Amino acid sequence: QRQMCIRDSALILVAVIPSEEVLIPPMTFVATANAVSHLGAVPHFIDIEKDFLGMSPHALEERLEEIAIKKNGRIYNKISGRRIAAIVPVHIFGTPARIIELKEIAYQWNIPLVEDAAEALGSWIKDGNHLRHCGSFGMASIISFNGNKIISTGGGGMILTNDKILASKAKHYSSTAKIKHPWAFIH
Ligand SMILES: *Cc1c(COP(=O)(O)O)cnc(C)c1O
Repeated sequence: QRQMCIRDSALILVAVIPSEEVLIPPMTFVATANAVSHLGAVPHFIDIEKDFLGMSPHALEERLEEIAIKKNGRIYNKISGRRIAAIVPVHIFGTPARIIELKEIAYQWNIPLVEDAAEALGSWIKDGNHLRHCGSFGMASIISFNGNKIISTGGGGMILTNDKILASKAKHYSSTAKIKHPWAFIH
């Protein structure tokens, strides 16, 4: 039996499936890589930059230029043959990663961005003249309420999204996944 954690579910929401690749930084808590492996997908590390210790936009851009090819509107790693299914920057120790640049690169390549804001509840990033919270940039983002985090509920966490379809999918998965039916209980 598999236990689903909030981080797995954010990857499920953006449709990561087994044996696909997910780009993550090596400088993070192990849960970032675990969420990928737990789905049967493969973590692919993109180096960090030294100012904020988040995923380096430069390293991401270079790696994608080196390995990524587009086939039928999807992006594949031409060395491994796997689809590159998501990019997951991490705001480590509550310090915002260069998320605006990272998001722009993800957008250019049409790869879903999932933001790991587990450690960054309450952190802000300047976006033009606006301040925006970490966790508001990803197609789906996560915050952790584990015992060592900014706010704790003992365990668990939260998925953030502005996408109505993803939000209702998230609600479905996180609340016993019952399929609507007048009398049958099918989950
Ligand atoms: C704590 C943490 C997680 C894990 O959160 P859980 O709620 O335990 O799933 C993921 N990523 C980072 C960067 C963390 O610090």
